Amino acid sequence: MSFFDSFTMTIGGKAVSSSETIDVINPATEEIVAKAPDCSEKQLDDAVAAARAAFPGWCATPIEERRRAVARIGEVLTEHQADFARLFTLEQGRPLDGAAQEIAFAAYWANEVSKQDIPVTVTEDSASKRSETRHVPLGVVAGIVPWNFPVNLAVWKIAPALLTGNTLVLKPSPFTPLTMLKLAELLREHLPPGVFNVISGGDRLGPWLTAHEGIDKISFTGSTATGKRVMETASKGLKRVTLELGGNDAAIVMPDVALDEVADKLFFSAFANSGQICIATKRMYVHEDVYDKVADALVARARAAKVGDGLDQGSNFGPIQNRPQFERVKNLIEDAKQQGLRFLAGGDVPEGTGFFVPLAIVDNPPEDSRVVQEEAFGPVLPLLKFRDIDEVVARANACEYGLGGSIWSADTEAAADIASRLETGTVWINDTLYIMPWTPFAGHKQSGIGVENGKEGLLEFTVPQTITIAK
Ligand code: NAD
Repeated sequence: MSFFDSFTMTIGGKAVSSSETIDVINPATEEIVAKAPDCSEKQLDDAVAAARAAFPGWCATPIEERRRAVARIGEVLTEHQADFARLFTLEQGRPLDGAAQEIAFAAYWANEVSKQDIPVTVTEDSASKRSETRHVPLGVVAGIVPWNFPVNLAVWKIAPALLTGNTLVLKPSPFTPLTMLKLAELLREHLPPGVFNVISGGDRLGPWLTAHEGIDKISFTGSTATGKRVMETASKGLKRVTLELGGNDAAIVMPDVALDEVADKLFFSAFANSGQICIATKRMYVHEDVYDKVADALVARARAAKVGDGLDQGSNFGPIQNRPQFERVKNLIEDAKQQGLRFLAGGDVPEGTGFFVPLAIVDNPPEDSRVVQEEAFGPVLPLLKFRDIDEVVARANACEYGLGGSIWSADTEAAADIASRLETGTVWINDTLYIMPWTPFAGHKQSGIGVENGKEGLLEFTVPQTITIAK
């Protein structure tokens, strides 16, 4: 059986298929890449039961062995990197180079997490008492991931959950389940049965999973609207939640920007992965003195970019990942046109096969237009003029989201001052999209609850336990 034509769930270490299936569509050709199992309620029960049964043994497994297992995830991704990358492009759409980068980065990530320590703190050592606080696993974690980074964002959950001694039921997006089904298949021989279960299915499965009584924690990445539903459901069983949600990140480009040095980064901050990144620049505020210069640099790059099938050599950007998202992005573009807004690049979405959207830049739209206020999650960038710092900080912060942001300036100290005034979890200066396993990643406001990555993120898969000894 080849890497590309048979996909089963992994439940209790075994391959499980289902009578019903979901079609996984290649967004470049709209052809069916493969059929993935549509998990039944009974199979979900089995997955949760398998994870529960595996928990006591896994949490008692010495940390060094758990480290080995987490590192093994990275090795398996690396051993099959070319096949994973091709499968990724087929289901997700991103050009092969970018797909291969995600596989390599996810492998690196697993390896780095495998080296992280779970702290033990002595909180008192007095004449009469000694108190020690450890961090113990929660039990069975449900991991729910979206379609924009289906491998990396899954590894953000798998690696820390398993390292800290939890067992996991992972649910990839119905639009991109194949890479995770394959990873779990390849890991069956390396992990004890039930430690890592992967189930796939349609829209019913997420709500079933989050409501399941056997789940102790939900680690969710997706839209703010869904995150609120997840939290509501989780409240019934007082399940722990970590929610990594939407964003509408502002980039602030100062008059002293070293444009020649940063123009490529600035461009990619908005358009990498065809704009389908939670921390993409979704509003770019440019000082009026350099507006035209910055616009020219971005427009030249947008016009030169080749949007096409990710399997074609020479495609720099792939399609929008799925039809509903394609329709949303088209709708946003249509709305901008109806409002009489001017497109400096793009703006016409071709008819035909595939969910392709030419990279679009909108010229100084009003602050209250939809293209500024909404998370496009596609290659549509509003370029906005500003005059003074207080004004632009207020505009950047006038937003229900608080995920990331960036400042672009030759004066990095002044930029750091502005950065500290942004109400977001991450701010880059002359940089973008830089996230590492050792850096806490947290959304402010409606961009999320809790943290992923870094020590803080690791500890979200645990609960403190303090043992006090009377001397
Ligand atoms: P989505 O919320 O539609 O789906 C995310 C996942 O949740 C999918 O696996 C989906 O099947 C599942 N799901 C849907 N309804 C559910 C329910 N009621 N209960 C439980 N699970 C349910 O999001 P999407 O369209 O896949 O992804 C795009 C969104 O994700 C954007 O808003 C983006 O900003 C956000 N995102 C955030 C981060 C972050 O780290 N903050 C990273 C990537 C994407």
